[in-house]
Amino acid sequence: MPKNTRDVAKHETGHLLGYTTHHDGPVTDVRGYPAEQRCNMLFTVPAAYTCRKCSDALVAFWQGMEYKTGERYLTAPKTGRLARLMQRCKGYGR
Ligand SMILES: [Zn+2]
Ligand SMILES: [Zn+2]
Repeated sequence: MPKNTRDVAKHETGHLLGYTTHHDGPVTDVRGYPAEQRCNMLFTVPAAYTCRKCSDALVAFWQGMEYKTGERYLTAPKTGRLARLMQRCKGYGR
């Protein structure tokens, strides 16, 4: 069971931001992502760490929102993992 309030708050924020399932929920088995035992979005909230599969899913949710609404929700950071993901998705929807 979750022990750390901060970890649980992060987990619930993930749900509020659009990740409506859990790391190991139905239809979340995505080929190419390594197995994770300690992702924040597991139902048991074992850690603060959010794995790449779940963070990519959150970004994809907001990219879908941008595509469907024409509004801009994501800003592109200049460095870091999200920046690299955004560069890989360059041209998405626009
Ligand atoms: Zn995960
Ligand atoms: Zn949850």
